[in-house]
Amino acid sequence: MTTTIIDPRDVWDAALGELQLRVTRANYETWLKHTVGVDFDGGEFVIGAPNAFVLEALEQRMFSLISETIEHVLGEPVNVSFRVSVSSNGAVAAREPVSAPSSRDARPAAPEQLDLPPYVRPIRLNAKYTFDRFVVGRSNELAHAAAEAVAAKPGSTYNPLVMYSGVGLGKTHLLHGIGHRAIAMGLSVIYATTEEFTNDYIKAIREGTTEEFRDHYRNADMLLLDDIQFLIGKEQTQEGFFHTFNALHMANRQIVVTSDRPVSALRLLEDRIQSRLTGGLVVDMQPPAIETRLAILKVKAEQAGHDVPDTVLELLAERVYDNVRELEGSLNRVIALAHATDSPINVDLVARAIDDMVDALAIREVPPDVVLDTVAAHFGMGADALTGRKRDKKTALARHVAMYLLREDAKLRLTAIGRVLGGKDHTTVGHGCDRIAVQLGVDSSLRRQVANIRETLATS
Ligand code: ADP
Ligand code: MG
Repeated sequence: MTTTIIDPRDVWDAALGELQLRVTRANYETWLKHTVGVDFDGGEFVIGAPNAFVLEALEQRMFSLISETIEHVLGEPVNVSFRVSVSSNGAVAAREPVSAPSSRDARPAAPEQLDLPPYVRPIRLNAKYTFDRFVVGRSNELAHAAAEAVAAKPGSTYNPLVMYSGVGLGKTHLLHGIGHRAIAMGLSVIYATTEEFTNDYIKAIREGTTEEFRDHYRNADMLLLDDIQFLIGKEQTQEGFFHTFNALHMANRQIVVTSDRPVSALRLLEDRIQSRLTGGLVVDMQPPAIETRLAILKVKAEQAGHDVPDTVLELLAERVYDNVRELEGSLNRVIALAHATDSPINVDLVARAIDDMVDALAIREVPPDVVLDTVAAHFGMGADALTGRKRDKKTALARHVAMYLLREDAKLRLTAIGRVLGGKDHTTVGHGCDRIAVQLGVDSSLRRQVANIRETLATS
């Protein structure tokens, strides 16, 4: 089996970073934002557009700009084409949905593949998604350890392994990491997105080749299925998945799936599938904390072959915080801007590259001492309690809220917040802010309190 090195999604993400600098914001938002890299076979690069309208606009208005940019990213000439590509939940998907006319058929097949059914394809693992390029932190250490364990002893530790998290937090990366290891051990691995699995299965049914389909999957040593939430609402495919799963599981072949939500929230799956999925190990991943974000940026900068100053990385790590893909995107934009303007990568460039930072600077900023006084008063204490060392629960909460508002509303950097709070270090401050950001999502009483404080701030 061969491994495809270049993932069209990565190429297109990098190209989007550059395009964002070359077109107006309105054009970017309207035409480019919801596109996706769908396919790249070495000669032709296929871009997915959310609808025919956008597709036409891209073809007619941006064709040469897009071609040029992709060529720049790839460093070689390509033919660019477009297709409509939307997932069932309305978001743009990397693969075409079942109902779309199957454009996979139109894709030029590699010579050795000509007589094979569609599901026999070269395994597509991103060469960059290996374990040694995965940064481990508290937010993902369990998932990482489970993935390593499964890769070391497929079929005999946790089977199945289910990894879930919000988008852009490393599920696909770990899944590919397992695949790379297994291939290195000489195992036969099938990696498929759930949409590919669905398309293949539906096609097999249509053509009366479900037996061959099953044999193909049953013969694998390992099945890696990405984004299993796409099975929701596809009953026929669920059936196919159930049988495939059982056959593999009974033969002690390793199954790993990812999901963007917990198994219990895949409510639409049949109960029996749900109970199969929870029969092994289920692990989740959370957004990384600041030091992990910084470590990730370091790895990505190094990978991109750029010498990015720590001050720049720190600034980026402080700002973007709930999704590693965004974090990476912010770095890519900075690098692309440096490239486009032929200037060194420094802190000034960051402000220019990241729109929302520029926007944030324009907002009227709340003076830090007003934030401290207001928060302290809300919690019935003096501002000196916030800058002091007391660590009881109430003081700690008040201090974290102060950190959060100093970052969000006073627009201070973490190091500056640390100073305002009597010399706390920026990691502590980062944790405090993150804690409140997470709590706000789940704790309505805290939401009300923060809203009250903000109201006071706004009228002060
Ligand atoms: P998901 O599948 O959860 O949506 P991905 O695995 O596609 O997320 O990750 C999005 C991007 O973030 C990828 O480029 C991946 O390499 C990167 N990434 C996520 N987590 C980490 C990590 N812990 N270390 C290094 N890179 C990471
Ligand atoms: Mg993924």
